[in-house]
Amino acid sequence: MEFKKIVPLALLCWATTLTAQKDLTSQLYETYENFKENSIGKRRIKHADIQPLIAEFKSNPKFEVQKVGQSIQGKDLHLISIGTGKRNIFLWSQMHGDEPTATQAIFDILRFLDTPEFQEEKEVILSNLKLHFLPMLNPDGAEVFQRRNALGIDINRDALRLQSPEGQTLKRLRDSLDADFGFNLHDQSKYYNAELTEKPATISYLATAFNYEKDINEIRANAMKVIVFMNNIIQKYAPGQVGRYSDDFEPRAFGDNIAKWGTSLILIESGGYRNDPEKQEIRKLNYVSILSALYTIAEESFKSIPTEDYEKIPHNDRKLFDLKIKNVTYELLGNKYILDLGIFRNEVDLKDHNDFFYRGSVADQGDLSTFYGYETFDAEGYELIAPKMATVESVKNPMSLLQNGVAFVKTKLPTEVAFTNLPLQLVHQDFELKPMNLQPGINPTFFLKKDGVITHAVINGFLVDLSKPLDEQNKGNGLIYRK
Ligand SMILES: [Zn+2]
Repeated sequence: MEFKKIVPLALLCWATTLTAQKDLTSQLYETYENFKENSIGKRRIKHADIQPLIAEFKSNPKFEVQKVGQSIQGKDLHLISIGTGKRNIFLWSQMHGDEPTATQAIFDILRFLDTPEFQEEKEVILSNLKLHFLPMLNPDGAEVFQRRNALGIDINRDALRLQSPEGQTLKRLRDSLDADFGFNLHDQSKYYNAELTEKPATISYLATAFNYEKDINEIRANAMKVIVFMNNIIQKYAPGQVGRYSDDFEPRAFGDNIAKWGTSLILIESGGYRNDPEKQEIRKLNYVSILSALYTIAEESFKSIPTEDYEKIPHNDRKLFDLKIKNVTYELLGNKYILDLGIFRNEVDLKDHNDFFYRGSVADQGDLSTFYGYETFDAEGYELIAPKMATVESVKNPMSLLQNGVAFVKTKLPTEVAFTNLPLQLVHQDFELKPMNLQPGINPTFFLKKDGVITHAVINGFLVDLSKPLDEQNKGNGLIYRK
C-alpha cells in the first residue's frame, strides 16, 4: 500500500511505542493513590519528615541506602538506589530548598518500586537500569523554605567553585555514577505560562545545553527525545500546560556542567496548576511522567523519537497573574481612566515555615492585554472604589460591611496570628486609612461598583462576589494590621 511506503519506519516504531506506553501511563495515573506517600502532603516538608521514610528503605533489602554527604548545618544526605541494570540513572531533587514537589514524587516512585504490582514493567526497568535517588539536596534551605542553602548561595551556581558541601556531594556522585541520564528536579514560579497562551506552564522541560553554541550531540539529543516522550504524557492530563525552558548556557550551573560531563540531562520544573496551591496534582504528574520515562529509557524505545519535536514544545513565558482585572474605570484628580490590574498573591511563611498565608500586591497596571490571569474579571463598566473603614466591637456580619464598601475594620484583634480567614482587613485602634494611591506594589484592597451598586470586593488580592454567600467562596485571607 502507498501508506506503508510513505510512512518512515522510525515514525511507525514511535507510534507503536506510544500506544504500548499509553497503557502503562494511564494505569500509573489511575492507580496513583495506592502508591502515594501520604506522610508528606504539603510543600513545606523538612529533612526530619523524610528521615523515617529513608530509614524504612534502609531496612528494606530491595534498596541500598548510603549516606553520601552532609549539608552545612550537618543534615545527612542519602542516596537511595535500586536495580541491577548496567546503566545508571541519577535523579536529585530540591537543590533549591523551596522546591519540594519532586521530592514528594520521588518517595511516591520509591513506594511504587517497593510493591508487588506492575511486576512486568518493574522487571524491565530494574533489570536494565540502576536507579539512584537523592531527595532534598538542600535540607537547610528546606528547613526555612528558601531557595538558597545556609551559606546563602544558590547551589545551582556552585558547580565550578564547589564551595557548598551539597554541591560537592552532587559532583562526586555525578562522577562516580557516570549516569546515562540525570533528572535535575526543580519547581518554578506559578506565574510561568506556555508562551502566547493563558495556560500555566505546569511542567517545563529543558534538555540542558553543554556549551554557549547550544550544540546538539547524541547525549543532548537523547535528553530531548525523552522530554518529547514525557511532554506527550503531560499533554494528556494537562493539555497545553507544558513549557520549554530557555537553553542559554550557564557555565556555573550543575545541569549545564553535568551535560558537559557526559550525562543526558533532563531538567524538570514543576510550575503552577489551577486550584492546586500545594501542587499535589503536579506531584502526581511528576510521578507518572518520570516512571514512564524510566520505562522508555530501560526499553530504549525513546531512540526512535524525532529530536525535532523538542523544538515544537512552546517556550516558557512569565505572563500570569493570580488575578487579572481588566478594563476597570479608575478616577484620578477628576479624570477617568481605563486600567487593567495584575495582582499577585504572595506567600508569607508562618514562624516555623510549616505553613503560610497570602499577602497580595498589585504587580502591574495599565494595558495588560498581553498578560493572563489564573482568575480574570472583566470590569468593563465597573468603577474602582476606594475602601472605607469602620469600627465594630466584633465582626458579626462581614457581608454587610463589604456591601457598604467597608474593607478595613477596627476591632479587637486576635492575638498572635498575622491573618484572618475573614474577607476583611482587621486593624489596630490607631490605624489611619490613607487615601488610595493605586500604584504597583500596594496591597490590592478596593471595591468594584456598577450602576451605583457595589458588586465585588477585592480584599488582599482576593476577589469576592457580593451576590454569593461568603461561605460558598474560598477566598484566602485578610490581613491583620498591628501597631
Ligand atoms: Zn530550582
